[in-house]
Amino acid sequence: MSRLYFDHNATSPLLPQARKAMIHAMDMRGNASSIHEDGRRIRQHLEQARQIIADHFSVKSSQVIFTSGATEANNLVLKGYKGPVITSAIEHDSVLKARQDSLICRVTKDGVVDLNHLEELIQQTHSRHGSPALISIMGANNETGVIQPLQEIADLGRKYGSTIHSDAVQITGKCVLDWANINLNYISLSAHKIGGPQGVGALIIDEKLSLSPLITGGGQERYFRSGTENVLGIIGFGAAMDHCLPQNWQKIESLRDLLEETLTKICPETCFYGKSPSQKRLPNTSNIRMPGVKNNIQVINFDLKGISLSAGSACSSGKVKISHVLQAMGITDDQLHESIRVSLGPQTTHDDIDKFVLIWQDLYSRGRKI
Ligand code: PMP
Repeated sequence: MSRLYFDHNATSPLLPQARKAMIHAMDMRGNASSIHEDGRRIRQHLEQARQIIADHFSVKSSQVIFTSGATEANNLVLKGYKGPVITSAIEHDSVLKARQDSLICRVTKDGVVDLNHLEELIQQTHSRHGSPALISIMGANNETGVIQPLQEIADLGRKYGSTIHSDAVQITGKCVLDWANINLNYISLSAHKIGGPQGVGALIIDEKLSLSPLITGGGQERYFRSGTENVLGIIGFGAAMDHCLPQNWQKIESLRDLLEETLTKICPETCFYGKSPSQKRLPNTSNIRMPGVKNNIQVINFDLKGISLSAGSACSSGKVKISHVLQAMGITDDQLHESIRVSLGPQTTHDDIDKFVLIWQDLYSRGRKI
């Protein structure tokens, strides 16, 4: 029996087009920095990928800096920015841990950045440092799927002359955004969340602003990121960006909604964190609390029955780490230990949802008895 994969926010499987492009690239030789024909040919592929990514975000290709992933892109911008940083309590650890001195903006109980608090923090940094802050707020949260008001955040920041960065890892490819209008200074991306390979990402930069590199050496990537480029990965990244279609993700929203309605019928006390009538979420994500059953038991049970999903934020040790995102939303410890994250993919079917519901129902009735 084939397994079901409900963990697309952790990583999304490689798209066939990305695989094909990478297999083709494996037989090519040359270093993109070499001036001979082999090098120039590799460079051409690399630049094609850069252009595809630039076009997606309506920026110039010279603004796309390839990195080893979004963790590095986030570190590059937060550590490279020489001024105060404001970020939110629900960011990925690669943002939260990049600086010790960041001011942390609150989120509402629905998991949305509190714009009043953000404005207070911007004013505070202005009076304390006299220099504009870097505001770093994600496009959508990986655990709840809650979409952040990027346009309002950017408008607010611009009013005070702030620099705006967004970790757009989860929102990219799943939702259509008018990036040109939002007009951010920096955007972090990760290939493996959009059907590209793991270990490659990018930072979109504002060429008018100065940014110190994290890695120095040969001066690749316009001196922002030295080191021979991960050409295979970048080619796969470009192909994935070209073929990840938001409509494929949007169409699974109805399946996610059906799943939530069905679970509510089985157990009306089920909570869906981040779900609120006033708030937009990613179409594929549901953060579900099964009352009375610990999430590690849930994750193991689903795994044994053939469904891969996560709880809390994925931790490198493989353990379930307490969710700082749910904590920031004011959810009590008992409740957040009962929540799992389901993130569907474009291939998820009605039958898959039925299978999930059956397992959930069985676990709920057994779990409560235990
Ligand atoms: N930001 C967010 C919101 C993420 O979900 C992830 C991946 N878990 C990252 C950053 C890190 O991306 P990468 O794996 O490319 O380093």
